[in-house]
Amino acid sequence: MEWCPSGAPDRPESVVLGVRSGEDGRVAYLADPLPAAEVAGMIPEGIPPTRILRFASHCVSECANRVGTACGLIDRVTALPAPAAGAVPRCHLRAHCKWWRQSGLAACHRCPAVATATPPDDTLTALVADPATTREQLAAHLAAPAD
Ligand code: SF4
Repeated sequence: MEWCPSGAPDRPESVVLGVRSGEDGRVAYLADPLPAAEVAGMIPEGIPPTRILRFASHCVSECANRVGTACGLIDRVTALPAPAAGAVPRCHLRAHCKWWRQSGLAACHRCPAVATATPPDDTLTALVADPATTREQLAAHLAAPAD
């Protein structure tokens, strides 16, 4: 079974992948998986769990991001410019991770910046999250002059 590193918080198998931390919200990965159910009660009411945590859950065929057997989300994420080369995160999911199997280091270098929840004023994140967005549309957005 492959696992999605931008998964749902409420599936029976869901685990916490990491914590979105710091001002930029990059993910700090847990050394070991923690069942999502164990943290559900600790999240303040009214705050979506995906705003502060990243979860991993099974990669499922009914996912809106599926393109055949591939993940369209990591395909769009890897269309974004690569961050400055740095160490690949140490995460507990790698042996089962769909993104790693599909895109390797290109996925891992971008993974900490992926937000499962989309801030309302973040157009680029919304485009990346939208299964209808193509890599060409992302490239055009990135090439357009900023407002
Ligand atoms: S760091 Fe790499 S292996 Fe770990 S969850 Fe992210 S994409 Fe998957």
